Amino acid sequence: MLNQLTISELTAKLARREVSAREATQACLDQIARVDGAIHAFISHDAADALAQADAADKELSQGGRTARCLLGVPIAVKDVLAVKNQPLNCASKILGNFISPYDATVIEKLKAAGAIVFGRLNMDEFAMGSSTENSAFGLTRNPWDTTRIPGGSSGGSAAAVAADECLASLGSDTGGSIRQPAALCGCVGLKPTYGRVSRYGLVAFASSLDQIGPFTKDVRDAATLLGVLSGVDPRDSTSVPQPVPDYAAALTGDIKGLKLGLPREYLIGGLDPEVKAAVDAAVKKFTELGAEIVEISLPHTDYAVATYYIIATAEASANLARFDGIRYGARVEGADSIELYARTRGAGFGPEVKRRIILGTYVLSSGYHDAYYLQAQKVRTLIRNDFLRAFEKVDAIVTPTTPTAAFRAGEKSGDPLQMYLSDIFTISCNLAGIPGISLPCGFTKAPKLPIGLQLLGQPFGEASLLKIAHAYEQSTPWHKEKAAL
Ligand code: GLN
Repeated sequence: MLNQLTISELTAKLARREVSAREATQACLDQIARVDGAIHAFISHDAADALAQADAADKELSQGGRTARCLLGVPIAVKDVLAVKNQPLNCASKILGNFISPYDATVIEKLKAAGAIVFGRLNMDEFAMGSSTENSAFGLTRNPWDTTRIPGGSSGGSAAAVAADECLASLGSDTGGSIRQPAALCGCVGLKPTYGRVSRYGLVAFASSLDQIGPFTKDVRDAATLLGVLSGVDPRDSTSVPQPVPDYAAALTGDIKGLKLGLPREYLIGGLDPEVKAAVDAAVKKFTELGAEIVEISLPHTDYAVATYYIIATAEASANLARFDGIRYGARVEGADSIELYARTRGAGFGPEVKRRIILGTYVLSSGYHDAYYLQAQKVRTLIRNDFLRAFEKVDAIVTPTTPTAAFRAGEKSGDPLQMYLSDIFTISCNLAGIPGISLPCGFTKAPKLPIGLQLLGQPFGEASLLKIAHAYEQSTPWHKEKAAL
């Protein structure tokens, strides 16, 4: 079925004119009609618009010749936090009401320029705050491997849609793990680029110093293809970096002999599930068979990462979300004066987790507490980054589990924010350090059968070598070929 193909498989068939972009798009739409009632990866999608884009791609394909547009005719869906011109933009919140984006995010412009069929609004935790997609104002997304379980978060819809073959690939955002964690729990590949690699223009900001956009794909090669399209400096995002964009696909040589992979001893924590540990241990063994050398390393400030993140991320969120005031965007609840209007709009519009974060963030920034919390957290953040930079003097990449457990049940952690926060224990340091990270499938739990994710962390702008290592592992293991029974 065409919706099950990878990007490289579909583009090869399209180039040979064996299939059309309309057929591929229709296959995705049919799959959405068949399974999305149970999965609910999509908040909405416009089938007619997707098919119109497909017809335009087919017209271009039929005009023959080779095209430089590497995603021509490929259906790609988008997390509801990225601006797509003339499409709804809700961040899975009620506060944006009927807001429609007046412009395209830079990454959307780039996808469109590469010929992709950009469609759908994928479910997420409200304003990307969460690890299970249970904080959406638009209902739960279910894990395709077991619909009693969560898909992870905050980009749960992006991961579930790829895992359920409702699109060929998707985009998400990652502030503390929101690409890698759901990719791990749904059994797909998720890549968070180096901070500054991909423009954030048109991404609704959660924590601006941590946020990055990245792809969800069915294999590592597709992640390399998409990263190449998305990357590059952008005058509209002053934190994007003018670093040349390498040919990431060219890095996928399969040869990782002599590379050094670091195993941090701090990652053997109490809550690590034995099946997850066994799968990661087996992956480490596989890396040795492939000729890599395993080196024990230490990241001594790991213990402080979750606390540091929840100070910095909430502080930035409290400032970023001040703009949702009932005046400029979306929903409004009237009041006797502007203060009452703000309070009523924000009281009715934001969900409980978003309110918790705004209150926490306002507190850590307030006078008297700023130095004790925010300033201190910034200092610890530097120590965490230095841990990684020191480790990379000895190793090419770092190997860890992506998550401490496989997908948990819906409702299992939603009453206990601290337990939920701890599910990001392996992914958060990467954002604090600004380095790239990828999650890829490395096995399954037995009963029930649930995907397990392996995380690889790399040097700043070292995505090519991360992709090379991930690809060599993937090609020598069967995990990425498995599909959820739907
Ligand atoms: N789960 C983390 C949080 O709730 C990370 C979210 C993200 O990466 N957007 O903040």
